[in-house]
Amino acid sequence: MGEELIGVKNSALSLILDCDNLKELEELKLQFLGRSGKLTLLLKELPKLPLEKRGEIGRLANEVKKTIEETISQAQEKLSNQNSQNKIDIDTTIPGIKPDIGHLHPMTQVLYEVVDIFKRIGFQVADGPEIETDYYNFEALNIPKDHPSRDTQQTLYVDTRNSRIAAGETLLRTQTSNMQGRIMEKIKPPFRIIVPGKVFRYEQVDVSHGFEFQQFEGFAVDENIKMTDLFGVIEYFFKKFFGEKTKVRFVCHNFPFVEPGAEAYISCNVCKGKGCTFCKNSGWVEILGAGMIHPNVLRNVNIDPNKYHGFAFGVGLSRLATLRYQMDDLRLLTNPDMRILEQF
Ligand SMILES: [Zn+2]
Repeated sequence: MGEELIGVKNSALSLILDCDNLKELEELKLQFLGRSGKLTLLLKELPKLPLEKRGEIGRLANEVKKTIEETISQAQEKLSNQNSQNKIDIDTTIPGIKPDIGHLHPMTQVLYEVVDIFKRIGFQVADGPEIETDYYNFEALNIPKDHPSRDTQQTLYVDTRNSRIAAGETLLRTQTSNMQGRIMEKIKPPFRIIVPGKVFRYEQVDVSHGFEFQQFEGFAVDENIKMTDLFGVIEYFFKKFFGEKTKVRFVCHNFPFVEPGAEAYISCNVCKGKGCTFCKNSGWVEILGAGMIHPNVLRNVNIDPNKYHGFAFGVGLSRLATLRYQMDDLRLLTNPDMRILEQF
């Protein structure tokens, strides 16, 4: 019986030391020390032993019981300590950390607003290629190859030396007006369209110039379109965009694709017309070029200029954005610094 007691002790200790959770430990306790546990059953055999052996085996049995009990209680303590260290305190009443929500880029906000204003007066929105042919960027707009006004549009040409395209025939569009020809040769008047998009020029980058900026083109063709319709549309747009108190003035200007042509100025929204560095102390800011579509442009797309007339205008979207947000540097619009972008 002595050997059996030692056997029970060894197997109990080995199981207890291997055990790594409190529930199993509780089960082991029952398995050895419970009412029908292995040790308890052995102890019940004690009275059947011869009297002279009872004392010795009795002491051994008590030692075994004590050792198992102590080992179990040590193991319980150790596991409880571990559990409390692993436990994470969660206070479900603390408000959560809200993730940062992004917002539209200031340029996109301005674009959406422009589109919204023109949609209210029946304009549709079109999109077009940024890599363009010389024809749609210039020739269809009454700007033949030898026209001096080409010099004012510092053009970036696509290198086509290893292709079948002739040199100088493909370029990065210098104006969103490239879409006039593309659209007018596909649809019949009457129509009112705006075309927002990126344009490219070979410009020295500074506070008011960039090699890439945004414009939008607007044009309308119908049977009875007059210059006053153009003035009305432009004035409506600027009053909606900059506020009803905005003043607009037009001055004569020459563009090859319009006749007559005009430039529009708005009263400076920084100094309210009093004069500041933003408007070069004039109180006015030049904002767009416009005019009645030249009959040659209409002829190029098979629209009869004796029956239909149209107006067109081009506005610098980037310029609108800098005016809206009173930025003194055009380059801020393409700066990815979040400290700038978060202000809008
Ligand atoms: Zn001003």
